[in-house]
Amino acid sequence: VNELVREWAAAIHGVCFVPLTAQERRMFVLGLASRLVDAMHTEPFDPAAGYEAGAALVAADYTAPEVLARTITVLQRRLVPQAAQVRRAALIEAVAAGFTRSLRRRTLDDQETIRVADRAARTDAERALRISEARFSYAALHDPLTHLPNQTVLIDRLEQLGTAHDREATRIGLCCIDLDRFEAINDSLGPPVGDRLLVAVADRLRGLAGERGHLVVRRNGDKFAILAERITSTEDATKIADQVLTVLAAPFQIDGYELSITASAGVVERPVSGETPTALVQAADVALHWAKADGRNRSRLFETHRNDRDVARHRLSAEIPAAMRRGEFTLVYQPLVELATNQLVGAEALARWRHPLHGELGADYFVELAEDTGLIVPLGIQLLEQACHQAVRWYGNPPPFVSVNVSTRQLHQPGLAGEILEVLDRIGMPPAQLQLEITESAVVATDNQTLGTLAALASSGIRIVIDDFGTGYSNFAYLYDLPIHGIKLAGKLLRDVGRPTAAGHAVLTALISLGFRLGLTVTAEGVETGVQARVLRGLGCRIGQGWHFGHPVPGHRLTAT
Ligand code: C2E
Ligand code: CA
Ligand code: CA
Repeated sequence: VNELVREWAAAIHGVCFVPLTAQERRMFVLGLASRLVDAMHTEPFDPAAGYEAGAALVAADYTAPEVLARTITVLQRRLVPQAAQVRRAALIEAVAAGFTRSLRRRTLDDQETIRVADRAARTDAERALRISEARFSYAALHDPLTHLPNQTVLIDRLEQLGTAHDREATRIGLCCIDLDRFEAINDSLGPPVGDRLLVAVADRLRGLAGERGHLVVRRNGDKFAILAERITSTEDATKIADQVLTVLAAPFQIDGYELSITASAGVVERPVSGETPTALVQAADVALHWAKADGRNRSRLFETHRNDRDVARHRLSAEIPAAMRRGEFTLVYQPLVELATNQLVGAEALARWRHPLHGELGADYFVELAEDTGLIVPLGIQLLEQACHQAVRWYGNPPPFVSVNVSTRQLHQPGLAGEILEVLDRIGMPPAQLQLEITESAVVATDNQTLGTLAALASSGIRIVIDDFGTGYSNFAYLYDLPIHGIKLAGKLLRDVGRPTAAGHAVLTALISLGFRLGLTVTAEGVETGVQARVLRGLGCRIGQGWHFGHPVPGHRLTAT
């Protein structure tokens, strides 16, 4: 065994680099050799020791093929006795097999290591690439001013949520925010201040929503949005909007200015499934529009039925100009009756639309639309002309006057007085036969031009009355400042008529006597019963109008009941 160990240790030394001392090398070889010698003598014969020896060489990093060749030479010469040649051959074969197989496995492992190293290197490269791409896409996905993600990120995220496997269960809240009158700040203090304000707004939104894990984006200009995922109720979504309005309400300190702003928000809350991202954003925008239209500094939740109504209204308002050209707008006239004598003294002209598809539409369907679009200005004068044409055909001594509604928008139109007087002139109708009904809100904040219009109309002999009196402002100063002929008490003031103890009755009584003392003609609207008519007469109200006296009818059928 000693000879074997010495020769074997010498044979493998120097073939390949293995960091073992001579002593360590000899101990290592001794271990292998003694197992092989044992195997030579042990019954039954088991060549496994040879296999293990071969594997052990490889494991100890004696991996050069030359090691195996020299090992085999040594074993052939030194494994005794000679007589056991078969065993020796079998052992040597096993050593060779153990060596090669181990070597092969190790090579494969090495290759795997190379592959792993390679993969790591490639990943690094990819990461580097991704970072540079990210730098590029950061610019594409972020707003350079506030560093918030932009609308693209929002749409992407909504798309992802819409295609996620649990999308059925995923409800989202999307809140679109728009600063109120931001342009005014931009215009008056300059864009740099506006920019800094936007950055400060972005910071507050980030502080509010970021900590809750919501996505905050700047859409454009002064428009932002917050996306809340996996919310459980509509209240969750509206709460976010309310928090936004609160957090933006505190004044901003920008460049020495203390800026107070308000914002409006539109909220949509629903499952993401079956919705395109654009539809979701549009819905939130529609709600935002409602918030603005309802007076700004508030949030509105998207509701389908309100949207349907809006769509129908917009369709209708788009039809108004053509309908005017086709003469589809007409007037019906409702009797104005003197309560003391029960005589017909005048009639209010009420607009109707003979719509080719929807039939006759009441004023409530389209007057507001025409006001919103400004079309009330041309429509109003067209209707006034119709009313005058009709009134000059009424007979009586004096003939009934016609009372025409005039919108605030019309009243603020320069040249209205001249236009109306020209119509009267053309038709040959005395101004005293015309009465105009204007609303309280139109006269409360009057400018000089409106005052001039009212004065010109009044001095020509046209009468002016305040419509729906008692429903809006309770500042009566204008009643004696302006050239006003009378007031029309809103129908709802009659609710408590006949119940002398009710508060409404006291209000009605007070308003009638106020009008009386100011020398104004008091007309009560919405008189539906004989009891109401009697009570009103007793209180000193001069004129009554309502179903009790007659429904609105075409001009040629106007008679007092
Ligand atoms: P308004 O001036 O207060 O007109 C009175 C409304 O009450 C009319 O509705 C009339 O039909 C209705 N009414 C009449 N008697 C009674 C009654 O006994 N009980 C109840 N509950 N209601 C009664 P209409 O015709 O639908 O008009 C609605 C509003 O549209 C009007 O309110 C007026 O502000 C506006 N409007 C109507 N015609 C014109 C117009 O030619 N120009 C302008 N600018 N506005 C108009
Ligand atoms: Ca009226
Ligand atoms: Ca009225």
